[in-house]
Amino acid sequence: LQLTPCAIVIFGATGDLTSRKLFPALYNLYAYDRLPEGFVIVGTGRSEHSEDSFREKMRESLEEHVPDYDRDLWRQMVPRLFYSQLDYDDVDGYRGLKERLEEIDASEEVRGATQGNRLFYLAVPPTLYKTIAGKLGEAGLAAHEQEKGWSRIVVEKPFGHDLASARELDATLHRSFAEDQIFRIDHYLAKETVQNILMFRFANAIFEPVWNRNFIDYVSIIAAEDLGVGHRSGYYDKAGVLRDMFQNHMMQLLALSAMSPPSRFHADRVRDEKSRTYRSLRPFNVPGEFKDLVLGQYEAGEVNGKRVPGYREEPNIPEASSTPTFAMLRVYLDSWRWQGVPFYLTSGKRLTRKISRIVVRFKEVPHSMLRGVVDQAIEQNRLFMGIYPDEVIHMYFMAKKPAPQLCLQPVIMHYGFEDSGGAPKLEAYEKVLLDCIMGDQMLFWRQDGVELTWGFLTPILEMCEECGELEQHLHRYPAGSWGPEQACDLHPGYYEDVITKTS
Ligand code: NAP
Repeated sequence: LQLTPCAIVIFGATGDLTSRKLFPALYNLYAYDRLPEGFVIVGTGRSEHSEDSFREKMRESLEEHVPDYDRDLWRQMVPRLFYSQLDYDDVDGYRGLKERLEEIDASEEVRGATQGNRLFYLAVPPTLYKTIAGKLGEAGLAAHEQEKGWSRIVVEKPFGHDLASARELDATLHRSFAEDQIFRIDHYLAKETVQNILMFRFANAIFEPVWNRNFIDYVSIIAAEDLGVGHRSGYYDKAGVLRDMFQNHMMQLLALSAMSPPSRFHADRVRDEKSRTYRSLRPFNVPGEFKDLVLGQYEAGEVNGKRVPGYREEPNIPEASSTPTFAMLRVYLDSWRWQGVPFYLTSGKRLTRKISRIVVRFKEVPHSMLRGVVDQAIEQNRLFMGIYPDEVIHMYFMAKKPAPQLCLQPVIMHYGFEDSGGAPKLEAYEKVLLDCIMGDQMLFWRQDGVELTWGFLTPILEMCEECGELEQHLHRYPAGSWGPEQACDLHPGYYEDVITKTS
């Protein structure tokens, strides 16, 4: 896989994602000298912009998000930025874009350096994905590895809002693009700590033999946010936490925690194993069955010392909204490895703190030789894989406390990413952009994974949305708490999983 030159064409270049994430990431890659020699960035969208006003907008995004950016470097980058306006529905606009890209290639500054390679990044509302993908095809911009260069398309979550819409979106993308041209981003996968899960599990001989139902009591996967819905209320109220977090990040973390070792560290072999894991998800097949699910919605409260409104008081949220902002799901995998082991997936907004971690609790010792000798419980071993903010592997085990009498204490083995040296870390968006340019699909969703996870979640969403009793199953929790109390009924170890310090 090579870093090939290309034009990075951003649809929706005037939007939030571009200014907060994409452009700062592209600037940083340029600053680290990680972008290919022949690259240009072409913003596009409905908004009217001259080249200069677009460049100014990108500079403002750096002022805000990379305030210590290097002004000289920025001036060197400017001639590589272009803007081309189009109407998303009009195929002539795309033909115009094609000509504009050819003009840019032929220009004095660029001189064919992109080699005709095109990366189309769809940083627009998902309702536009089908239109844009289709029109790119009609305008001849989706050609696959022809002599004029490669063409790839990048889409952000959500990939549909249920199984049927995910399939429909996929059919449209595939009308113009082949699967290896489609990059479905889940930037979560690009975090070093998430990439490390497979390394930790499969580059050591000592964990895999105990990574199964014989030794593991449960696995708890937590992605807690302290933020509320912010400016994304319109989208969020339709999506809710199950669509926003579970179909993507939570399912990926589940696969990384539970999958079997792939035969090779190759994008398709790794994604084969993830899909095998999704295929083993035991369906929620009892209509109206909430025994493996806790849903919640935040009320007013205090987060990080500040009063914040409840979900229903947020701007643009209907007063009677029954959209869940918290969910805990207990799932089982029907396989020899995992039969009977619960996986608790928990995510919510306006919780006490922002943390992401995976907690593996091992079984109790089968017999305690200390029974009747020491009046002290032997705690179960716990392994924490910290993703945010503590980037750690943190293992609790029991040891003798130095003392004349016999007593035990839990102690820690700890590895922190910050201690490990190495090259400067790439931020998640920097990594995924680089991978798109290299054509490396390892960290991107494959369509079968998208369909399998929607296939699992859609009946749950339908159960929630169609049972008409959601209100009675939607538990209120004060903003700033760890979620509704009922979460601890479903998973008694939950508080310990979230409050245990790992730094
Ligand atoms: P956004 O700011 O709402 O919109 C991006 C751009 O899309 C707008 O500047 C606008 O540019 C164009 N657009 C076209 N039709 C529009 C319409 N009907 N309503 C609003 N904008 C329209 O979106 P975003 O937050 O950047 O998100 C872009 C994509 O990334 C979405 O699919 C979103 O789900 C995904 N995403 C965003 C974030 C994030 O943090 N923002 C995180 C994860 C995923 P023109 O008017 O110039 O055409």
